[in-house]
Amino acid sequence: MAKQILYGAGHNLRFHIKDWQARGITPVCVVDASVEKQNTTFSHSGIRLEILPLQEANFRYPDSDYYITLIAPNCYKAKESLILQGVAANRIFILADMFVEYPEEDNSDLPFAPDDMVKSCDYLERGIGFLFDGIYCCCLSSGRSGILIDAETLNAHESVSASDLCEMIKSERKQYFLALNGRNKRPLGDCEECVFLYEKQFSEVTFSGLGGKSGLQLVNDQSTLVCNHRCSYCRDAVLANKQYACQYDNRIVLKALDGFISRQKPSYFFVAINSGETALRKNLDELLDYFRAHELENIYIYSNASVYSKGIERSLKSGCVNLITSIDAGTPETYKKVHGADDFDKVILNLINYSVLGDNRHMRIKYVVLDDESNTSDEDLLGFLCAALLIKPEDINVLPQFRDSSESVPNSTIEFAARMSFLCPIITGRILYFFPALGISGDTEEFSKKVLERVESFDETKKSRLTEMVLNYLRSKLCKK
Ligand code: SF4
Ligand code: SF4
Repeated sequence: MAKQILYGAGHNLRFHIKDWQARGITPVCVVDASVEKQNTTFSHSGIRLEILPLQEANFRYPDSDYYITLIAPNCYKAKESLILQGVAANRIFILADMFVEYPEEDNSDLPFAPDDMVKSCDYLERGIGFLFDGIYCCCLSSGRSGILIDAETLNAHESVSASDLCEMIKSERKQYFLALNGRNKRPLGDCEECVFLYEKQFSEVTFSGLGGKSGLQLVNDQSTLVCNHRCSYCRDAVLANKQYACQYDNRIVLKALDGFISRQKPSYFFVAINSGETALRKNLDELLDYFRAHELENIYIYSNASVYSKGIERSLKSGCVNLITSIDAGTPETYKKVHGADDFDKVILNLINYSVLGDNRHMRIKYVVLDDESNTSDEDLLGFLCAALLIKPEDINVLPQFRDSSESVPNSTIEFAARMSFLCPIITGRILYFFPALGISGDTEEFSKKVLERVESFDETKKSRLTEMVLNYLRSKLCKK
């Protein structure tokens, strides 16, 4: 049997490596086009693999099969690039397309021939976004696409069955697809400019499923944005200085999901629940119980962790959810400034409790570095990393404040992230990762490159000053009366 090589050592690989391994993918190494990643080690979920340039991998493991780990459309671009570099097409497999079964599809009501090239997007075909004002096809970020079914229509169909709701969504997906391809008119949000829109044969278009393809998230539940915090960087509840209560009965979320899932259990299924403070979401336990009962994994809960949730605890224990918490501070004072709530101690304690009772392999903590330098002191750096040592999450992430991808990241953010990147393995024994934000926070690759270059530029004096700073910090805390 040919040896297996993965292509792409990014975020999607970290998300899926265990699942792919369980499905029989046993790679000998990873190939990545990024020079910064080459000749380093991919390490996640107890799996360690060398990251090599393509030529080196080809030389060491000739006649291997290549499995692309990227999501669409980048996976298709990567395939093209591998072929151009001499890898035979029949040796290249796209993991996003493997292990996926789609329900029977009948698109004969649409005016295209099977070979016609059409514009589409995986998220439009099989994703769902629940926002406070209705159901959207886009599940990547709130309000990017046009709306599929508004709250008024949902309220008018309050007693619709799960199966009929699923049909309504499918029919609206088709209408939306027609508009994208110039066959009718409706508001399309950012879809026409979106990088995830690509051309494909009409015969490959499928509207009846949920999940499938290894996208990052295919269901995004932001049906309510009620939050008890007021983060200075929040794009949703706080920026508009108001909260968005769901304009329809949010049990519709579960009904819509059940409409799809009861027909066919999705092969790849990703759910992000980021309704403001998720622990305050109405019907959260009902939703989580459903996922557990149907053994659906890859449920990502975004919570500020200020409210301890028994539902989240039960799901963490069963290993079906992943908890993502943005801490953004290392002291109670900074936390209060950034989050608008005096909850630092409570948050750290709740996270420690989740990690000891549940499964900290399913926990991730984040640090959003703010442009105004309000959370970039040494105390914040060390306090956050020491909290990470106690919580022991699977991933520790750093990212810049949300911005348009065109705006550059300030030098203070790069410097702080570089110091965190250097000290993270020393204090916690774990590598710091850069949080991918799909164009919201600018280019993650570019950010991580700048940060790693900065770390490279640290001379020995600076490195020992940083290490000494850790010792002094610990001494000052431990020797405090
Ligand atoms: S905004 Fe982009 S990702 Fe979302 S549905 Fe439209 S084309 Fe797809
Ligand atoms: S915890 Fe999240 S939703 Fe709440 S204010 Fe902060 S960033 Fe916004």
